[in-house]
Amino acid sequence: MAAKGAHITQNIEIKPSLFEVLAADSLNTTFYPAIKRVVDFLATSKPAIFGGLVRYYDEFYMLFNGLVQGYYLNRHGGSLAEVFYGLTRISLRSKTFSERDRNWSFAVLVFLPYALGKLEKMCDHWKEDYESGKQVSVERRLLFRLVPFVKAFYESVKLIHYVSYLCNATDTHSPSLRILRLGLTYLSEEEETWSFKDIFQGKIRLATILSTALLRWLELSAFFLQFIEWWQTEANIGDLSKLPIPDAPGPDINASKYANVCPICLQKHIIPTAVSVSGYVYCYRCIIDHLQKESRCPVTKYPATIKDLIGIYTNED
Ligand SMILES: [Zn+2]
Repeated sequence: MAAKGAHITQNIEIKPSLFEVLAADSLNTTFYPAIKRVVDFLATSKPAIFGGLVRYYDEFYMLFNGLVQGYYLNRHGGSLAEVFYGLTRISLRSKTFSERDRNWSFAVLVFLPYALGKLEKMCDHWKEDYESGKQVSVERRLLFRLVPFVKAFYESVKLIHYVSYLCNATDTHSPSLRILRLGLTYLSEEEETWSFKDIFQGKIRLATILSTALLRWLELSAFFLQFIEWWQTEANIGDLSKLPIPDAPGPDINASKYANVCPICLQKHIIPTAVSVSGYVYCYRCIIDHLQKESRCPVTKYPATIKDLIGIYTNED
């Protein structure tokens, strides 16, 4: 595990550097978008099986996050990202990690992001409704207008925490850990090790092997995610013209079937409108009605919403 070997001393008073705690925080924020990408990819290739995952992604992620964070909090006393950087949580008062600390940590790591994410989406929704001229109550308008200020306030509080942590003025680097009265320290426990000899002698259960393998895979993916993130940042900083040019789209078997007609009403297009994720062109009315009922392209079944529609302007109009 990263940064672990150098701190074998069992002194719990040693404070990790700001770099380490920030690295753990940034890794933690990579999981949600990274797994979303995997889910989006699966849904695009097998919409019938994985389409639901996209629709209920927040719930799916909460379940996944709950299983992983629950395991790491139970076993190592820290979140996956913290343990990955060789860190663990400790109470600032009792210098232990009690069951109460664990339960509150779990709630803050798993339920709080879910609830805040849902609230933010709801605010965005009300804002969209309000901007498109729909009736929105005064409380809701106030709420979505407050969101940017609340975010800016939280970011400032975070920054103050980082600076005071750096200056050794506090023992904890984040507002959420401060509320929980927890700090981070180096993980000092021994890793569970086993060799193939143990397996043959039956000293170790298959379940242990499988769970270790799964966790090693998860940790390796975490490292890989950080690498990809770094690589993407590097690529964006560099010359944009160096980005690879995608291949021209290949022929589609349905394309000739719906040549010059709307695939829904099979008539000539009325206000031709393309679904940007699939490239198929429909009548504006036909595709709007369809997307309101089913959030996917009728021909390709790719997940799509009204936001993915583009007007097509041809010479015929
Ligand atoms: Zn039509």
